[in-house]
Amino acid sequence: MKARILPASASESIRVAGKTIRLGGLVAFPTETVYGLGCDALNPEAASKVFEAKQRPQFDPLIVHIADRMQLDKVVTVLTAIARQLIDQFWPGPLTLVLPKQPAIPDLVTAGLATVAVRMPSHPVAQALIREAGTPIAAPSANPFGYVSPTTAHHVADGLGSAIDLILDGGPCSVGVESTIVSLVGSQAELLRPGSITPEQLSAVIGPLRRSSPVIDQPTAPGQLARHYATQTPVTILTSAETRPVLLNNERAGLLIFSQANASGERFAAIEVLSTTGDLREAAHNLFAALRRLDAHGLDRIYVEPCREEGLGMAIMDRLRRCAAR
Ligand code: AMP
Ligand code: MG
Repeated sequence: MKARILPASASESIRVAGKTIRLGGLVAFPTETVYGLGCDALNPEAASKVFEAKQRPQFDPLIVHIADRMQLDKVVTVLTAIARQLIDQFWPGPLTLVLPKQPAIPDLVTAGLATVAVRMPSHPVAQALIREAGTPIAAPSANPFGYVSPTTAHHVADGLGSAIDLILDGGPCSVGVESTIVSLVGSQAELLRPGSITPEQLSAVIGPLRRSSPVIDQPTAPGQLARHYATQTPVTILTSAETRPVLLNNERAGLLIFSQANASGERFAAIEVLSTTGDLREAAHNLFAALRRLDAHGLDRIYVEPCREEGLGMAIMDRLRRCAAR
C-alpha cells in the first residue's frame, strides 16, 4: 500500500483527512515546523499505530496539537500564570508546553508520564485538520524514528509512504526545525528542546529559564536522545566556520555551510549552502532538506560548518550535534 498524497488546499482533502483521524487512522500533515504524523490524541489504538509506523520506542511521548483554547481544557488540568503568559504571547506558533495532563489523554501518548506536551500550531492546514477532526491530534514528526524530520510531503512519502494512509501536501514548512519545548511542571520553567522561539524571547516574557542538559543517553524527559535527527551518512561538525577538513584516501565528502561566502569547495563531491547571506531563519528552513539531499549521494562523510549559537542558531546546532552523534 502506498499513501495517498492529497493537496491540502482542497477542502475535500481536509474532509477526508479529518474523517480518517476520527476513524482512528493516521494522517501526515504540514505544520509551520515540520510535517507531523497525526492521530486522534484520545484514542490509544490510533496512537499505537503511530509508534508502529515510525518504529518509535514507547518511552518517547507525543506532542498533542490543538486548534483552540477550549481544546486545551480537554488536554491539561491546570494552567499556571506563566503558562497563560506564554500562550498569550506565542500561540498559535512553534512553542510546545509540558503541563499536567487530563486523565482522558492515554498513557501511550505521554509515555506513562503525568504530564503532556501540547501546542497550538499556526499553520492553517494543521488548524483546519484539527477542527475538522473535532479532536486534539497527537503527532510526532512524520519520519522513521531517529531520522531527519520531514519538511515536505515528499520527505514523508520517502520515509513512511508504505506505513500510512494519507499525506496532506501543504508545500514546504516555513520554520523547518521542530518546536521549542518548555516544561512548566517544576518550580521553574525549563527549556527541554530549543526551537525557533528562542530562550531570549521566552525570558523576555517569563524571566529566568532553566536549561536541561540537551544530550543524554537514557532520557527521563524523553526526546533528549543523544543521537536523533540523523542521516545514514556519518556527520562531522567542523571546529569553526573557517576550518576545512583534510580529506583522506579519496574520501567522497559533502559539505554543509551557512553562507554562500564560504563556498569554495572543489574538493567536495557535493555542497549545500543553507542561506545566500548567512541568515539563520533561511538556514533553519533549508536545513533538513539539505541534509536529506546530501544523505542521498551515498557519501563517505558529511562535514558541517557550525553556526553561531544565538537565537535560532541554538536549535540548529542542537539538531546538528544529535545528527553527528554516533
Ligand atoms: P517529536 O514530535 O518527534 O518532535 O518529539 C516530541 C518530543 O516532545 C518528545 O520526544 C519529547 O521530547 C517531548 N515530550 C512530549 N511529551 C513530553 C512530556 N510529557 N514531558 C517531556 N517531554 C515531552
Ligand atoms: Mg521527531
